[in-house]
Amino acid sequence: MKTLRLILGDQLNQQHSWFQERNDEVTYVMMEMRQETDYVVHHIQKITAFFAAMRLFKTYLEEKNQNIIYLSINDSKNEQSLEKNLLSLIEKHQFKKFEYLLPDEYRLDEQLKSLCKKLEIRTGFKDTEHFYTEREDVADFFKGKKQLIMENFYRMMRKKHNILMEGNEPLGGKWNFDEENRKKYKGEVPIPEAYSYKTDVSDLVKEIKQSGCKYFGEVDPENFHWPLERSQALQFVRYFCKKLLPNFGKYQDAMHSKYKFLFHARISFALNSKMITPAEVVEKVLYYWKEDEGKINIAQVEGFIRQIIGWREFMRGIYWAKMPEYASKNYFDHTRKLPSYYWSGDTKMNCVKQAVKQTLTDAYAHHIQRLMVTGNFALLNMTDPNEVDAWYLGVYIDAIEWVEITNTRGMSQFADGGIIGTKPYISSANYVHKMSNYCSKCFYNHKAKYGEKACPFNSLYWNFYDAHREKLEKNQRVVMMYRTWDKKPKEEKTKILTQAAQYLKEIDQL
Ligand code: FAD
Repeated sequence: MKTLRLILGDQLNQQHSWFQERNDEVTYVMMEMRQETDYVVHHIQKITAFFAAMRLFKTYLEEKNQNIIYLSINDSKNEQSLEKNLLSLIEKHQFKKFEYLLPDEYRLDEQLKSLCKKLEIRTGFKDTEHFYTEREDVADFFKGKKQLIMENFYRMMRKKHNILMEGNEPLGGKWNFDEENRKKYKGEVPIPEAYSYKTDVSDLVKEIKQSGCKYFGEVDPENFHWPLERSQALQFVRYFCKKLLPNFGKYQDAMHSKYKFLFHARISFALNSKMITPAEVVEKVLYYWKEDEGKINIAQVEGFIRQIIGWREFMRGIYWAKMPEYASKNYFDHTRKLPSYYWSGDTKMNCVKQAVKQTLTDAYAHHIQRLMVTGNFALLNMTDPNEVDAWYLGVYIDAIEWVEITNTRGMSQFADGGIIGTKPYISSANYVHKMSNYCSKCFYNHKAKYGEKACPFNSLYWNFYDAHREKLEKNQRVVMMYRTWDKKPKEEKTKILTQAAQYLKEIDQL
């Protein structure tokens, strides 16, 4: 039966069963669309990476003699909308069946379901064959439980997939090596050079600019460093295993102005576009670890595996369990705007400046920069979670809603009131100073809570607790903070809150 099969931009899985055989009756369709570039303002590198990877995937299918229709961004036949393009292709080519791979975004899932209802031809869908879990697995696992604790899910995953296990017990006697994994980087071991491909994407960047879509950030079109196809992605994973894994866990929370990538893998784009699967990443990590005959400490390996089989799968499961309501959660009723320097990096706060400038040049910041610098400050500023989400969804190379919104609205902004995290991830300058070298070159004094050059993180931190007392003081994980706050002399509290009010008033000038 003459069939049209849709491949979305984040479904570039060469190993999917669809592509393992050739059928003359089947035509694949891929589309670069303004619908996808315009739902938030995106980083130019994010648009470039997706389109470049899609074009290479099209070449891969052509080499396998598959039939493929590809609509590039400036193609005159491109109607720039998923539904319009599909309807006109189905009519023009008289397809008798339409099939798609299950999308990971709620928005696209709804669009495709509604399109299928309209179509008068047969329709069907298939799994993307990427994740360890099905959409509903996390919700099923936590059925009847009051709290959704990631650690419990992670342990089940370790057992179920027999990863780092000795029988029923965790290898090394512990499930979690977090306390060994929270070191500041002080140059103890050299940081390996950042792995890069330096692909020339100049023509594509020109096309994107000609299309008129809005974008932000910078790109070096002759030296595009993100992996754009499976073989490149696998090289990133190999490089990670050989050079970065030995110190990954130890420094995974560290931040440094000179070494922006530290020991991080930079594989989130490759994973989220499905060039590689989480299972093969885990397999390769375990393989290299065993090959190395125990020279790599288990804490490094466990720290990494936890992110892949724990956090990544957990976030996806929460997304499908809680959408669409999740996207409007605003537990603290925050309404303030995101400070202007989130788009420029022009601030005197060195930590925010470093994280944002790096985001502009690389479409990347690592987890702790996202959580404890930009996320933390957005929360202390009491920013509307819609603004925070739109920023994170646009600026990072790996941002796809299922993993962005759960991390941003949930983990970072606590806007879900505690579905993902057990307490808000806020900190004063103390944490940033402990984990980075940022404060030593900062205009502000990380020790001062008020007065000239007092670091804004300090007064805003106490101001946050004070403002949200009603919602937080019964939370066992922050009860100590209220005790500390209450013990402060009234005069000091007034100075802190006055300073915070001043900073909130002048937020764009900080
Ligand atoms: P590494 O530090 O080397 O970790 C390896 C892999 O583990 C990552 O590639 C990723 O696939 C996975 N991982 C690690 N932490 C998480 C996590 N919390 N949730 C899901 N997977 C995780 N990740 C995204 O992929 N897309 C996003 O849009 C995204 N938005 C985020 C927003 C905020 C506010 C925060 C705090 C985190 C966000 N993350 C997001 C999670 C994490 O920051 C990135 O996955 C990571 O920085 C990607 O870089 P890496 O490949 O070098 O990761």
